[in-house]
Amino acid sequence: MENKKEMRTWLDDMNLDHPLVIAGPCSAETEEQVLRIAHELKDTDVNYYRAGIWKPRTRPGNFEGVGALGLKWLQKVKEETGMKTCTEVANAAHVKLALEYDVDLLWIGARSTVSPFIMQEIADALEGTDKIVLVKNPVNPDLSLWLGGIERLYSAGIKNLGAIHRGFSTYEKSKYRNIPEWQLAIEFQNRFPDLPLINDPSHITGNRDMILEVSQTALDLNFDGLMIETHFDPENAWSDAAQQVTPSSLVQIMKDLKIRKESDPEAEYNSELNNLRAQIDVVDNQIIDLLGKRMKVADGIGLLKKEKNVAVLQNKRWNEILGKMVLEGDERGLSEEFILKMFKAIHQESIIHQEKIINN
Ligand code: PEP
Ligand code: MN
Repeated sequence: MENKKEMRTWLDDMNLDHPLVIAGPCSAETEEQVLRIAHELKDTDVNYYRAGIWKPRTRPGNFEGVGALGLKWLQKVKEETGMKTCTEVANAAHVKLALEYDVDLLWIGARSTVSPFIMQEIADALEGTDKIVLVKNPVNPDLSLWLGGIERLYSAGIKNLGAIHRGFSTYEKSKYRNIPEWQLAIEFQNRFPDLPLINDPSHITGNRDMILEVSQTALDLNFDGLMIETHFDPENAWSDAAQQVTPSSLVQIMKDLKIRKESDPEAEYNSELNNLRAQIDVVDNQIIDLLGKRMKVADGIGLLKKEKNVAVLQNKRWNEILGKMVLEGDERGLSEEFILKMFKAIHQESIIHQEKIINN
C-alpha cells in the first residue's frame, strides 16, 4: 500500500490546535461510572471518549467487560455531553453492534492485531465504513503485523485510518508495562508518514506517574495524539487500576505538556530540533542497552575461561574482530580511527569484567 495523503484528512479536518486526545476509562463498569467520567471530561480538550466494553484479558477470570450493554451507555454519553465515542472491537459481531449503535471511532486491540485471521474478519465486517478505525500495534514487536493490519483495512475500503502505539510485551525486566521500542514507532512513521499516529502512554507505562514523561516523548517524536485512560476513582477501577488518571490529572498533564505550534517558524525549528533530539535519545538508549548485553556475554566467556583456566586476552580473536568492524564501520560512513577507539574502549571494559570474574 502506498502512502496516501487522504489518510490524514479526518484528523486535518478536525482543525485542532492541540494533539488529538482520546480519554475515558479502560473499561465501562456501570452506566453511572461511564456517564460521570464523560461529564467530568466534557469541557476539556478531550476529543473522543473511550471505554472498553469487550475486554481482552490475557488470563480468564478477570473482568471481561459489560458487553453490548455498554453501547447504550456510550450512546447516552453522546446525547448528554456531545462527545464523540470510541471502543475496541475484536471480531465481526463487535463491529456489527458498534456500527449499529453509531460508535464514532473503533480501535483494534494489540491482541487482535497479532492475528491476521481476526484482522481480516474485522476488515471484512467494516468494509466501506467511513468510521475512523485505529489499529494498535501488536503485542509483540513485529512491524509487519502492524503494517499488515493497516493494509487489510485499507484494502477493505476503509479510508479514515490511524494507528496507536501502545508498546510491546517483553520477557525482560523493565520499568514499563509494555516497552515503547520507540525506534519501531519511528520506523512505522517512516513507512506511513501521513497516517495519524496516536500514543497510548497508559498501556506503555502501566503506571500513572509515568504518563506525562512518555506523552512528552511521543509529542517530541511528532505523534499526532494521545490516548489516556481516565477514571474518577482510578485505584478502584475494575481493570488497569495502576495506570488510570483522574480527569483533573489529565487536564494537568495536558497543561504540562510542551505542545508544538506549527505556525511559528521559531517554534517549528525548536520542534524539529526536539524531534531529532528525541530520536537521538532513543538510539543512545539502545546503544547503552546493547553494551550492557555485550558485557553480560563477555561475563559468560569469563566464566568459561575460568573453568578451563584459559588466559583472558586472546589476541588473534581480537584482531579478527577489529578488522571486521573497521570494514562494517566503513560501510556506514564511520572512520577507522573512530571504530578502533570505540572498540578498544569496549574491549578494555570486557577485559576488566572478565578479570574480575576470573579472580573471584
Ligand atoms: C485497552 O485499550 O484498554 C486495551 C485493552 O489495550 P491494548 O489492546 O493496547 O492492550
Ligand atoms: Mn486498559
